[in-house]
Amino acid sequence: MEQKCIFCAIVANQIPALKVYEDDNFIAFLDIRPLTKGNCLVIPKKHYIWTYDVPNFGDYFEVARKVGLAAQKAFGAKWICFLTLGLEVQHAHIRVVPRYEKDLHGIVVDINVNEKFSEEEMKEIAEELKSAIPVEQPKVEEKKEEPVEEKPRWSKKDLFWARRDIEQT
Ligand SMILES: [Zn+2]
Repeated sequence: MEQKCIFCAIVANQIPALKVYEDDNFIAFLDIRPLTKGNCLVIPKKHYIWTYDVPNFGDYFEVARKVGLAAQKAFGAKWICFLTLGLEVQHAHIRVVPRYEKDLHGIVVDINVNEKFSEEEMKEIAEELKSAIPVEQPKVEEKKEEPVEEKPRWSKKDLFWARRDIEQT
């Protein structure tokens, strides 16, 4: 944990946040200054500065997708933007920004333009989002396949001919 890192403090539950998702490596929570309804930040639990420092980068984006799709399901977002900027807080974060026909942004999301929601509304948004994120089913154990008997790649006869070919060249 990095000293004075606000996101590390959120991971450690020292600063409250409206969490919508959590697994072993990542958490997602509502941005307190939402760009749109359902705008979340997805962060690794470990402190990395840049998103591309996160070793399981693919899993990281899978979480962002889950959260984005949940916003689509819960609030009817038309499409979802994923922003990774990086300098505002120096702890890797993907901004999941659900987009709506009539939101406050143009084609490009303006990170200085925020929606206003009351504390109650924010709590409701978090709850709705949380319940729209599918819960991972425990993995069903895969069927064990019959062990295949390993055959030697080269028979003695093959080896004999191969060696003979080499010796003759
Ligand atoms: Zn941190």
